[in-house]
Amino acid sequence: MNKVIIQECTDYSIENIMNKINNGMDKLGGWGNFVRPGDTVLLKANLIGPKSSDSAAVTHSEFIRSLTRILKNMGCTVWIGDSSGGAIAGISPTAQSFKVAGYQKVAEEEVAIIKNFDKEGVFEVQPKGKFKDKMYLAKPLIQADVVINVPKLKTHSATIYTGAVKNVFGCIPGLRKGMYHKIAPDKEDFGEILTDIHEGAKFHLHIMDGIVSMEGDGPTAGSPYHANKILISTDPLALDTVAIKMLGMDIEEIDIFTSARKRNLGQWNLDKITIDGDYNYKSLPVLNNYKLPKRYKSTKTRNSKAVIRVVDFFKTRPVINMKKCKACNICVESCPIKVIDIKTKKIDYDQCIECMCCHELCMHKAVELKSDNALAGIISKLSAR
Ligand code: SF4
Ligand code: SF4
Repeated sequence: MNKVIIQECTDYSIENIMNKINNGMDKLGGWGNFVRPGDTVLLKANLIGPKSSDSAAVTHSEFIRSLTRILKNMGCTVWIGDSSGGAIAGISPTAQSFKVAGYQKVAEEEVAIIKNFDKEGVFEVQPKGKFKDKMYLAKPLIQADVVINVPKLKTHSATIYTGAVKNVFGCIPGLRKGMYHKIAPDKEDFGEILTDIHEGAKFHLHIMDGIVSMEGDGPTAGSPYHANKILISTDPLALDTVAIKMLGMDIEEIDIFTSARKRNLGQWNLDKITIDGDYNYKSLPVLNNYKLPKRYKSTKTRNSKAVIRVVDFFKTRPVINMKKCKACNICVESCPIKVIDIKTKKIDYDQCIECMCCHELCMHKAVELKSDNALAGIISKLSAR
């Protein structure tokens, strides 16, 4: 069903969120089409790292609470699961993330069960795309009766946007995620991995927390933006197509979706997507003055050869601001190809694959994105011709 429900929701009051989600679900035929009393339902959150819910970097804990309460009221057992990115002292920070984001408290108060994907075991998936090696995903994805993907609406310094399609990357437990950044630094290739995960695990519903989203250079270092939206769909690509349009972009511009489009993960033609809820296609909301990532202007025109040089002109690279750096070394440990010097925090740009994991995972906003030396980029391009 290529239907996307957009609900207006201006705050994180549980009553409002529950009403808006329940009304939205009625437009999809009601909760009864998806869950039955006694089912175990896994909520796959966006818990990128140890960030508070108010930071807008993670799915808000009250959003998780609202969904938990709805499902508990229906007689379901609720699991809340994810695996965070990066490493601190060689260990994935997922357990800490559950506490800092407030999910641990929600689980205790609502009688839900935390599923730290790093500790739950894995199941094997045989990818059908470009990468043939077996993939290992967190076991709760196949142990639960129903899986609901609960992404956060955010822009992203490296992939431009992160939503329903990309949120499944956290289904790869622990430090193994870094390996995929290493083998798939190209964003289209990275999209292949995401499509593999969607094909390897069944996500029955996608319910996006877009109440306070993150604009600018997310997924952790951007700024909160009150978008006031909840998006619901069974089709993650359709949901992202609509969300991206609301931000002022088009899905064809964003490379991580190339694979999902080619491999028919869902619908990406806006004319074929039915919008329902508080909006319809003719009144599709636009999020005014939404700050897009610095890299976005370069991707917009990438199809023209002449513009490839403009891409380089606008290229940004991570630079560590030592005044803000707390020497936690999460960037050093999380860099998939180990090119950040542990003492000086200098980056070897000759080897950097621009995955932006360091920028994404620094919880202190100390990894800043600076424009590359444009002139040098142009000269090197010209001399390479
Ligand atoms: S840049 Fe950020 S992640 Fe890296 S050591 Fe400094 S504070 Fe930690
Ligand atoms: S320095 Fe940062 S952007 Fe470069 S490869 Fe390492 S983590 Fe990725």
